[in-house]
Amino acid sequence: MPKKHGARGDASRKDAAEATKLRGSFAHDSHPPAYAAWAGAAEWIEQRRGPDVAMPTIRAAAGVVTVEPGSPFNLAAVDPDLDGGLDKQDAKAMLAAERARIQALQERLYAERRRSLLIVLQAIDTGGKDGTIRAVLEGVNPQGCAVASFKVPSAEELDHDFLWRYHARTPGRGMIGVFNRSHYEDVLVVRVKGLVPEPVWRMRYDLINDFEHLLTASGTTILKFFLHISKDEQRERLEARIADPQKHWKFDPADLVERKSWDAYQAAFNDALTQCSTPHAPWHVVPANRKWFRNLVIARTVADTLEAMDPQFPEAAKGIADLKIPE
Ligand code: ADP
Repeated sequence: MPKKHGARGDASRKDAAEATKLRGSFAHDSHPPAYAAWAGAAEWIEQRRGPDVAMPTIRAAAGVVTVEPGSPFNLAAVDPDLDGGLDKQDAKAMLAAERARIQALQERLYAERRRSLLIVLQAIDTGGKDGTIRAVLEGVNPQGCAVASFKVPSAEELDHDFLWRYHARTPGRGMIGVFNRSHYEDVLVVRVKGLVPEPVWRMRYDLINDFEHLLTASGTTILKFFLHISKDEQRERLEARIADPQKHWKFDPADLVERKSWDAYQAAFNDALTQCSTPHAPWHVVPANRKWFRNLVIARTVADTLEAMDPQFPEAAKGIADLKIPE
């Protein structure tokens, strides 16, 4: 029998109440006054629907800077040290609560199997993409989640249009997909290293916007996070990788060469953030010098986005409650 969708069953009502309770539990009492700003985040959520865009996208949650579509953007305007005035221990407790929301909502997204969420992570080397994935998605049902990490393209990938390899890894219905690096590399590293002529990478901004429009119009909500760290913070993280034998595997001497192009990367980031923040897929810049703040901001935005999508368990088959399983 085909599954029916859309109606909200008892189970999902209970689930939603549970999620609300979770939010409530850290919106009061035990958190510092700075939390007041955070508690207002829910009101900042706004559903925006373009004329033919089926999915809601989301306005900034507290702590995230959302790049206004059509306005020039400069990373220099965002302090990567921002921490919302929060205490690290409090932030960790809040992160656990956000994760619980994500886990409950992900189950509904998976059961509904009509839509998907794509989380795009971009950052300079050592920016914290791997750590973010670990912290935010811990405890999510692995069956409903797929991470794609994009490295230097293979010969086969280079034989196709630049979006080919990314399109193949977009999340299917019911799934949360994570792009660890993404199609933006083709206007970032490719531009900084001059891997294709300028007219070729220049036309990619429009092509990326069209690609993302196709995805959102087809049922995928896109959340794009740029993890913003300072040059000093990158030096400290590289030094930590050298100092700790357990981190040696993470150290790539090529990162030192790339570091020399810091300014060129910042210029490329600014252009990508400016050209490709659209109403259907806006860019969110996350102050990321403090890992615990970065994790909390992203987890909260993911949870708020899933909540705004409001996935529903499919309607139960008629009479299921009265069914008896034969011996
Ligand atoms: P990560 O730094 O993401 O943990 P790696 O150390 O394996 O992973 O680095 C992946 C490398 O692949 C990066 O240097 C990145 O610039 C490069 N890369 C990713 N996408 C492209 C692309 N489209 N063209 C060229 N290089 C790319």
